[in-house]
Amino acid sequence: MRDAAQAAEAATTADIPFYVPAGSECTLFMEAHRHRLPLLLKGPTGCGKTRFVAHMAARLGLPLHTVSCHDDLTAADLTGRYLLKGGETVWVDGPLTRAVRDGGICYLDEVVEARKDVTVVLHPLTDDRRVMPLDRTGELIEAPANFMLVVSYNPGYQNVLKSLKPSTRQRFLALDFGYPKPELEAQVVASETGVDHDTAAMLVGLAHRIRGLKGVDLEEAVSTRLLVYCATLLKAGRPLDEAVRAAIIEPLSDEADVKDGLAEAIAAIL
Ligand code: ADP
Repeated sequence: MRDAAQAAEAATTADIPFYVPAGSECTLFMEAHRHRLPLLLKGPTGCGKTRFVAHMAARLGLPLHTVSCHDDLTAADLTGRYLLKGGETVWVDGPLTRAVRDGGICYLDEVVEARKDVTVVLHPLTDDRRVMPLDRTGELIEAPANFMLVVSYNPGYQNVLKSLKPSTRQRFLALDFGYPKPELEAQVVASETGVDHDTAAMLVGLAHRIRGLKGVDLEEAVSTRLLVYCATLLKAGRPLDEAVRAAIIEPLSDEADVKDGLAEAIAAIL
């Protein structure tokens, strides 16, 4: 197994996904990994959580196993199951089991979306045992030193049924992600798309305006991801009103009056 520092040295900057830190989250991630602690990332969609994990995995020179959780995802989908292959029944590891066997970072994106039985699998992995019992095969897999579990969830979508139980969340170190500060967000938009700084700053200003709108019925505000999409269209030569409609207004709402409200608010500052 490679030492994290050695591996990090081996990774060239070009291999590392671009990530603009908002604070000390990179150091905290390193410490969590060094001390074998699991990490919970909280924040709205499209604010950089997945990019952050990809960036840190590359910096640490570790494989990244990502699972996008959804409401049909069961513990068996993560651990594995017996399947019929060529007339024989064979055990096939799920993505979490593979990650525990192989080591590296396992990222469960939007973990609260998954079925409740998933927490049963996470508990023995997130205390100091760091094991994964596979009841179906009778195995008890010990996580290697370089294994790290990272989960994310979006508190904005939270409802009583879909939140992490205290007994689960208190097993993790947690980082609160928000949209990056304006100057950092502009840097992200410019670097990701190649638009000039003024265009990036204009889009970020527009996002701030939308994020600050009161009384507009939006489930979520405009994300950094949508700003990147909008800048991508602008960079491709599409006109501003078309880019804003396709990358910001339409993805945010289906309601005609909400879309009109957004268009008005945007027109007021453009
Ligand atoms: P999340 O996982 O929070 O839903 P992502 O990590 O997929 O969001 O981020 C969406 C996009 O926003 C990324 O693909 C990237 O282009 C951009 N992004 C957001 N924050 C950052 C950041 N801090 N540094 C670099 N890119 C970022």
